[in-house]
Amino acid sequence: MANLLIIGAGGVGRVSAFKAAKNKDTFKNIILASRTKSKCDDIAKDIKEKLGIEIKTYALDANKEENVIDLIKKENIDIVCNVALPYQNLPIMHACIKTGAAYLDTALAETEDNPDTYYDLQWALDEDFKKAHTMALLGCGFDPGVTSVMVKYAADYLLDELEEIEIYDCNFGDHGRHFATNFDPEINLRELNLPGKYWENGEWKTTKPFEIQVKHKYPECGEATSILIWHEELESIVKFFPNLKSAKFYMCFSDKYLYHFNALKNVGMFSIEPIEICEGCKISPLQFLAKVLPDPQDLVKNYKGQTNIGVIAKGKKDGKNKTFYIYNICDHEKAIEETGAHCVSYTTGVPAIIGCKLMAKKIWWSEGVHNVEEFDAKPFFEEMEKQGLPIKVIEVE
Ligand code: NDP
Repeated sequence: MANLLIIGAGGVGRVSAFKAAKNKDTFKNIILASRTKSKCDDIAKDIKEKLGIEIKTYALDANKEENVIDLIKKENIDIVCNVALPYQNLPIMHACIKTGAAYLDTALAETEDNPDTYYDLQWALDEDFKKAHTMALLGCGFDPGVTSVMVKYAADYLLDELEEIEIYDCNFGDHGRHFATNFDPEINLRELNLPGKYWENGEWKTTKPFEIQVKHKYPECGEATSILIWHEELESIVKFFPNLKSAKFYMCFSDKYLYHFNALKNVGMFSIEPIEICEGCKISPLQFLAKVLPDPQDLVKNYKGQTNIGVIAKGKKDGKNKTFYIYNICDHEKAIEETGAHCVSYTTGVPAIIGCKLMAKKIWWSEGVHNVEEFDAKPFFEEMEKQGLPIKVIEVE
């Protein structure tokens, strides 16, 4: 049994806390801490009402390593599930190193002064985690997270030689709003505004934003325009599967979404450069936009439809060319009914708690800093089935 500290009380924190409470046989004490304590209290109240489980809450500014250290010590924490923002990854990791707690996150670290960092900053802490006799599991949401586990599953259980992967992510849900992002608008819009990037024949290739578009058929859901973008799991997938000939990530967008996206982009609303709007008062257009867009939490009121995220894995089996589609479908209404959060949060929070559970049970355990591709995919998929996100595998032409 492990004491679990969840940091962050947004949609993903909500799902993580609910799922941890449903796994009380693994997590002895569950603590939820975030910048705004009232958000933690609301989640704790809902969990108490729905599941009859008590979780403790705290106000915590996780940008300050010493605050995290104090809370870890006070509550005798074994595992920290970091589902706050990527800016908090490094201070929380340092707090884990100093206390010996295990660490997990769902997005790669960023710093305020350099939003373009990659896994390097976190991989560089490998020796420190080893010396502290504990581990960090990076990027254990859905994408990054489950998509990499799908690649690992294809490599270990479906194919003799894995040659190409394509990741497809589509939200077929409708929340009835003209334009909204499903998670932190600042992070979401910046991600889409970057040049596309993919791996081919041993090197990274870049595209202009939204340059490569394909019509893709999502199993059980239908066809949708999908755009090649850079996504962070490509970096770890290419590291752990160096023989891959190609690795690409596509995300689908509705015409309505693209119409608003292009208009806002064309007038400069995605710039992170602060501009003076009154004397001595500077704000970046993107931060301003994030404040006027709907709160991702509010989308739950009318969210209907499904998400479909999966990996097409191509390669050789017994000398023959084979292609498999490994995917998950998540239903917004069911996710909201269970946890009060839509699928974009649900598909992140559930894998995060599965990662914590596998670490707590030492099924996924190795001192140092690790990505999910380094561990056996089977126990993870077994938990996905039990925890409400079943994985399907089909062979395609
Ligand atoms: P939200 O913005 O809804 O929630 C983030 C939470 O972090 C808020 O409760 C916020 O507090 C809290 N927080 C912010 N700064 C601090 C701080 N300094 N100290 C403590 N808490 C802080 O985001 P989501 O729940 O949607 O996403 C959470 C994480 O999951 C993000 O890192 C996101 O990138 C990642 N993610 C990963 C996905 C994947 O598939 N891998 C998909 C979707 C998200 P406050 O309420 O006060 O603002």
